Amino acid sequence: MKRLSPFPVAAVGLIAFAALITPFLPLPDPVRIDVANRLAGFSASHWLGQDEVGRDVLSRLLWGARASLMVAFFSSLAACIIGTALGVLGGFLRGFTEIITVRAMDVVLCFPPLLLALLVVTLLGPGASTLIPVLALVYLPGFVRVAYAGVLTVRAQDYVEAQHALGAAPARIMLRTVLPNIGGPVLVQFSLSMASAVVLESGLSFLGLGVVPPAPSWGLMIGAARSTMAQAPLLLLWPCLALTLTILAMNALCDALRDAVDPHGVPPRKRGLRLLPDLLPGLLPQRSGKEPVLAVRDVSIGIDTPAGRIQPVRGVSWEVYEGETLAIVGESGSGKSLTGLAVLGLLPGVAEPTSGAAYFGGRDVLRLPEPELRKLRGGSMAMIFQDPLSSLNPAHRIGDQITEIIRAHRPMSEKAAMAEAVKLLAKVGIPAPEQRVKVYPHEMSGGMRQRAMIAMAIANNPKLLIADEPTTALDVTIQAQVLELLDELKRESGMGLVFITHSLPVVAEIADRVIVMYAGEVVEQGRVGELFANPLHPYTAALLRSAPPEDGSLPEGIPGTVPLPHLLPKGCAFAPRCQHRAPACEADHPELETLDEGRQTRCMRWRDLEGRLAPRPVTEAQA
Ligand code: SF4
Repeated sequence: MKRLSPFPVAAVGLIAFAALITPFLPLPDPVRIDVANRLAGFSASHWLGQDEVGRDVLSRLLWGARASLMVAFFSSLAACIIGTALGVLGGFLRGFTEIITVRAMDVVLCFPPLLLALLVVTLLGPGASTLIPVLALVYLPGFVRVAYAGVLTVRAQDYVEAQHALGAAPARIMLRTVLPNIGGPVLVQFSLSMASAVVLESGLSFLGLGVVPPAPSWGLMIGAARSTMAQAPLLLLWPCLALTLTILAMNALCDALRDAVDPHGVPPRKRGLRLLPDLLPGLLPQRSGKEPVLAVRDVSIGIDTPAGRIQPVRGVSWEVYEGETLAIVGESGSGKSLTGLAVLGLLPGVAEPTSGAAYFGGRDVLRLPEPELRKLRGGSMAMIFQDPLSSLNPAHRIGDQITEIIRAHRPMSEKAAMAEAVKLLAKVGIPAPEQRVKVYPHEMSGGMRQRAMIAMAIANNPKLLIADEPTTALDVTIQAQVLELLDELKRESGMGLVFITHSLPVVAEIADRVIVMYAGEVVEQGRVGELFANPLHPYTAALLRSAPPEDGSLPEGIPGTVPLPHLLPKGCAFAPRCQHRAPACEADHPELETLDEGRQTRCMRWRDLEGRLAPRPVTEAQA
């Protein structure tokens, strides 16, 4: 949290302190009438003079501050707590909850605030005890709207998705992730409500519908001073000045608070980049031959659109083994990420698996209920995303985020979990981990953040780690370090690593086997060395030729784009872009053929083309 500016704190503190200690000050009775000295000026016993019936002005001003601030604070606080809770529930749970929380507030918003307050106070009678619930009702819709809008923004962020992926329960995500991230706007709304409530209380008191005379309030003082404005103008000045200064001080304090609690407002510290270590030799581990950690079988995914259901993933099968890295590669729109999201139960609401199964630990995870999936996510299955800055919760320190994941899956004290978090940060190569657990994500460099995300993902020793383009947002130096780290961790723990990427140089560096996807289907599968040396599908060869050449010359682009799922051609989906297409390619849809040692291709002309699909060699140095 940034240091709070001292001036607004001091100003509001002074006003609040003066109001609090008023009963203990040696002040004249604020309601004692002294008609003989009406409108008397300054004196030693009446520092600000006496009003139209001889009451002490300073005493009434301070006692009036108590009444105004108490009504404003408690009405705003009540509106803030109830409104924020309703807005968060409506925005997070949506559906019927949204109707009865957010939409119901629209009815209240239809009434002008002053008219609503006048109506209720007229019905219930004046007094501070009536004003608090009335003003709370007036300000409630504002808090609901602010919290609701904040939740809708925050829930779409990757770090909320990442929390789901790491197995956090919805209530915990709401309280620990969503709520802190809407704190800034809610605080601003609180400042506006406080300032507005002070004015509204004064206005209602001025109209005789607020604080009941002879009890002092600023509104009553302004109302009474009207009649003697010509003889004693200062009687009007003092309460107006008190009102104005109080509102200015409260606005300044809340702006300062908003800036202080919003971690995005803190300027990031400059961090030096670590030097590129030597790349590891490309010694890729061999497939173990055991049962796969995850076996995806004939999975199709459907998405409901206004134009009907589309199938962006169709009949996809693959498996990953213990200690193996499987790369899934393809252009945007090839469907490579959707299967990984389906395995973790993280498909967006409009998408669902329509057929097939994904076996993990003997269970079909596509059919598991959400509570069972939540136990697996962040535990034995984990995922890391492309952009660590948007995947980490900006409102919590790195150490707190790691301990939360650890404690969600393992009973452990906060202290022990923090010690584990320090070890994890050290394990992923973050220097000074004891200090780094205390920093916020924006205080780390991009590479450090991705290492921290990896630390969270491996916190509970997963058997399966799905990495969705984890190096795309990083520069090449950091990318190489992160790839090396993932490879080391996989070797150490023996987990199965599914690496989703569009970059074949990255595949060359990290993978044992490759699945090439195009337009929602697997078009080629094989071990890295074989597939790179002798591609059996023109799309794979085109991808290899599109990698940036080492000599600095321009890569060959692939003409055209991936067809949309509802505009797939009848025959081979790659035919419109394929320079080897024949009439038969456009007439029939090619089947996925399995060749020796698990090699697969979905090209009906692979026998004719074998050896002719000359790829440009892709090396680790291009990664
Ligand atoms: S089936 Fe025909 S169009 Fe499709 S990739 Fe093979 S050669 Fe090209």
